[in-house]
Amino acid sequence: MHDVIIIGAGPAGLSTAFWCDELGLDTLVLEQADEVGGQLHRVYNPIHNYLGLRASNGAELLEHFAANIDSADFDLWTQTTISSVDLKAKRVSLASGENLQSIALVIATGVRPRTLGVPGEKEFAGKGMIESATRDRELFAGQDVCVVGGGDAAAENALLLSHDCPTVTLVHRGKKLRARREFTEQLQTVHCITVFTESVLTRILGEDRVEAVEIQRKQGLKPFQLAVRGVLIRIGVEPNTELFREQLQTENGYIAVNSQQETNVPMVFAVGDVSNPVAPTISGATGAGATAAKVIASRLNAK
Ligand code: NDP
Repeated sequence: MHDVIIIGAGPAGLSTAFWCDELGLDTLVLEQADEVGGQLHRVYNPIHNYLGLRASNGAELLEHFAANIDSADFDLWTQTTISSVDLKAKRVSLASGENLQSIALVIATGVRPRTLGVPGEKEFAGKGMIESATRDRELFAGQDVCVVGGGDAAAENALLLSHDCPTVTLVHRGKKLRARREFTEQLQTVHCITVFTESVLTRILGEDRVEAVEIQRKQGLKPFQLAVRGVLIRIGVEPNTELFREQLQTENGYIAVNSQQETNVPMVFAVGDVSNPVAPTISGATGAGATAAKVIASRLNAK
């Protein structure tokens, strides 16, 4: 029996664990991946808005976190797959067959990039699928590329790629890009960027690597193929809630919490992006972890 089990070891889960340890709680963190850090591994841009620390990317910020975490005394199990969770009973069953029990549960499972689900998307991972313009733009220099999405991320990545790529085609399903004006205005001034609105990427084609995409413009017109060597998909994120969503209240798929980070199930908390669609930031995630830990500690001490 643990005081607290935390599911997920990104910034939110690690901050919760760090604070729980500071407050003398017996804490176990379960992480499915090989290593801690969550989405920090996918941040390739400099981080300059985390108060007190600057980092050239997520991995570097994680090194700063690790310095704190190494000195803490909570249990951390990586490569741990959870098969089911009973939120009311605070019982976590692992794929290994082991059952774990706690007084409080903290969900810190974050979000994952949304996928298009079109043929070729998975098959060409590492063979022409661009993960990040910041990280991969040199690899794709001199090559024609396609970007999918209409938000800030798609627009920003298209602009970054346009520095090195002869053509960048931005494909967006809606009538109007939803990216902020600063980006949409820049898109209009860069000649090598073509924007296809009301268009859908339906297939990614190639032999051993990406060679073309198929685009369907408006309903009724025939789809056409466009030769490209790289495809970057930036169509937002979705919360990792599959294990819990039948057992607690959600809002637009995200876990609903009160100002104490508690869900509608008593002593079950949610922190970080999985419960924060409005302002998914590293600062918000670490702050939410601190709040949850303080609330849990005060409840357990009051018993
Ligand atoms: P958003 O959720 O803002 O936008 C997602 C885009 O993808 C929308 O245009 C949406 O279309 C489209 N989309 C969603 N699902 C599909 C689908 N199945 N097929 C095709 N298109 C789809 O996500 P972003 O990743 O752009 O941004 C996430 C957050 O990060 C935002 O808050 C953003 O402001 C922030 N951000 C900030 C940056 C900066 O400040 N420099 C840079 C990057 C991101 P539709 O519009 O039709 O719904």
